[in-house]
Amino acid sequence: VKQVNESALEDSLVESMTHEGEEMSRAPVVTVMGHVDHGKTSLLDYIRRTKVASGESGGITQHIGAYHVETDQGMVSFLDTPGHEAFTAMRARGAQVTDIAIIVIAADDDVMPQTKEAISHAQAAGVPIVFAINKVDKPTANPDKIKEQLANMNLLVEDWGGKIQSHDISAKTGIGVEELLEKVLLEAEILELKANPDKRANGTVVEAFLDKGRGYVSTVLVEGGTLKIGDYVLAGTNSGKVKAMQDERGKEIKEAGPSTPVSILGLDGAPQAGDKFNVMEDEREAKDIANKRTQLQREQSVRTQKHITLDEIGRRIALGDFKELNIILKGDVDGSVEALTDSFGKLSTEEIVVNIIHKGVGAITESDVLLASASDAIIIGFNVRPAGNARQVADKEEIDIRTYSIIYDAINDLKDAMEGMLSPVMKEEVTGNAEIRETFKISKIGTIAGCMVTSGKIYRNSGVRLIRDGVVVYTGELASLKRFKDDVKEVSKGYDCGMQIKNYNDIKEGDIIEAYQEVAVKKKLK
Ligand code: GDP
Repeated sequence: VKQVNESALEDSLVESMTHEGEEMSRAPVVTVMGHVDHGKTSLLDYIRRTKVASGESGGITQHIGAYHVETDQGMVSFLDTPGHEAFTAMRARGAQVTDIAIIVIAADDDVMPQTKEAISHAQAAGVPIVFAINKVDKPTANPDKIKEQLANMNLLVEDWGGKIQSHDISAKTGIGVEELLEKVLLEAEILELKANPDKRANGTVVEAFLDKGRGYVSTVLVEGGTLKIGDYVLAGTNSGKVKAMQDERGKEIKEAGPSTPVSILGLDGAPQAGDKFNVMEDEREAKDIANKRTQLQREQSVRTQKHITLDEIGRRIALGDFKELNIILKGDVDGSVEALTDSFGKLSTEEIVVNIIHKGVGAITESDVLLASASDAIIIGFNVRPAGNARQVADKEEIDIRTYSIIYDAINDLKDAMEGMLSPVMKEEVTGNAEIRETFKISKIGTIAGCMVTSGKIYRNSGVRLIRDGVVVYTGELASLKRFKDDVKEVSKGYDCGMQIKNYNDIKEGDIIEAYQEVAVKKKLK
């Protein structure tokens, strides 16, 4: 066994990527963020509908996660997943693809919490902002109010004497959208965005999914170099030769330069959104690194499972009956995997933490099952099934595999599973009643009740209540339960018996003895 530096591989990758060549200016990559319902999707849709490259027939028909448009001033590429969550998720994975953020604010509303969040996310990433004050077609719109609120947050827009660009638009009618894009391009000019189109391509994965007919389809954004058909691509832990490329209009293309989003066919799996991709010299090199990364990832996931933080230990001790539910999640497209991850995460409560220890696109494999077995997890498949040996191994290892095609069902079932895991609440259940027909005083022993069981069963280990005229006068347990002279375990309805209540002798004819037991009842989640 030879210990190799884990990062050596990646370093050599970076080294091999630095090439001589001329840097040329490239188009900006734009993300649209803002508060819900302020018009992010409408703006992206409007641009998609109307701003397709001039002279090209047909609109953008495919949702591949990104698209580019040609304006009079130049090209702009859009990431088609609005919202700062996606933006930050990508960033968390080390992928900063956005050059400029358009932050949409509805002029008939206010600067809202999510607007503020979006602003701070963009600022944290050091990405310049262009404000789009939207819905100015509405009679209730008041763009100046928004600008004032921004000014109060120390964000001075141009027409208020500041440096931040902003434009009043209507995503519905299209007023101002053209000018907004001009401002975006102006901002891009200031940034002096450059890339070298002559080297082997590198970039970031935007989206990936499994297409029933075509196999794994990955949308990538080329950041540097030019991606060509036949290139050997390494993307995250996947690799493969580019068999075909399409743009957002579904048109076959042969190569894609910097800032161009394309969907490619040919990878051996679905890389995750945010994974970096590189074009490698040959196929073996790409495969080798992909394998090494998979191995590293596996080792890391094993490590993180074992090492929990002090805080976590303290929290578990404090809670006493802390439990966690480990899940391996597989789905047909990245989108539904992310959606389920989100929803599952929200199911976590004080008492149970939902841990997604592995997620991915594609069928449930044997290695998923082994991981589940190693970490005590259940496997959830969304529109995917176990492949190859996975089912047999799962049966052998007794791993729970559940498959769904409706997100709602998956969430509900998981909730149920969690209720099963919660420590049950003890609840009393009356098992039977007996009526006292006669009492016998026995010296040194106490008073024995001669009873007739009138309903259900009385068990020797039951708890009992003495009820007189409908009122509970004593709660305790039995000291003895006999039929004739014999001790018995239980007496059913219709039989008479002798009972003595432990430490209690004040019994009368006509009293009712109610027997009850504690049963465990599943707790519902709050
Ligand atoms: P998102 O949640 O930010 O993606 O917002 P949407 O794009 O889904 O828009 C929310 C609602 O506002 C929809 O009903 C849109 O039709 C409406 N809307 C968006 N932009 C405009 C606009 O410029 N003018 C008007 N009148 N309505 C708009």
